[in-house]
Amino acid sequence: MSQARALHNVQVIELEIIKLTRRIKAINAELEDEEELEKVREDYLGAEERLTECRKQVNEVELQMQAVEDKRKETEERMYGGAVTNTKELQDMQMEVESLTRRHTQLDEQLSKHADERDAANVEHDEIKALFEETTAKHQARQEELQNEKSELKKKADGLLTQRRAALTQVEEPALKLYNGMRATKSNRPVAVLKDKACTICGIEQNHTVIVAINRSEQLVNCNSCGRILVKL
Ligand SMILES: [Zn+2]
Repeated sequence: MSQARALHNVQVIELEIIKLTRRIKAINAELEDEEELEKVREDYLGAEERLTECRKQVNEVELQMQAVEDKRKETEERMYGGAVTNTKELQDMQMEVESLTRRHTQLDEQLSKHADERDAANVEHDEIKALFEETTAKHQARQEELQNEKSELKKKADGLLTQRRAALTQVEEPALKLYNGMRATKSNRPVAVLKDKACTICGIEQNHTVIVAINRSEQLVNCNSCGRILVKL
């Protein structure tokens, strides 16, 4: 096998490894990305907090109403009980009953407002909860999908690394040195295929001398434009 061809084999395998590695990196980034889930989780916790707060307000007003009601009954019982005969005291009690009745009406209005808020918070809570559960399920499914893809890619990469080692046994030291030296500047493609007398990477047609040299395939021949090692497949 010519050295150009041996290098080309290595390059094909390495490009495939690079592609796999990039995909694995992108998968890792996606696996770590919990932004959307976190946002929905926060919304859900917020909705839970609001609902709890609304329920608390309703309970508080209900308790206040109960206390006002108890107080009014107690005052009325005393008023009509017959034990109090003092007119001033009876008038005071009458006024207190009226005041408690007004307070009860106010609290009843508050209760109705808080109950509406609680009902709205409940609806919102249920909606966000459903969204949170849906998002969590989707997230888990996606994570599984990505993990599966990743382990497949890792298996493939292991296989390619074995292939690369085998391909490298066909490459002699000077050729490998040259190839490795060119990798960085040639975008991991130091070898270019010659097709219809032209370099397939830069597209430049090669002169007669180059073509003859490649056909002899005894030494490495570079593209007269981009400088890549040319290979005829
Ligand atoms: Zn070229």
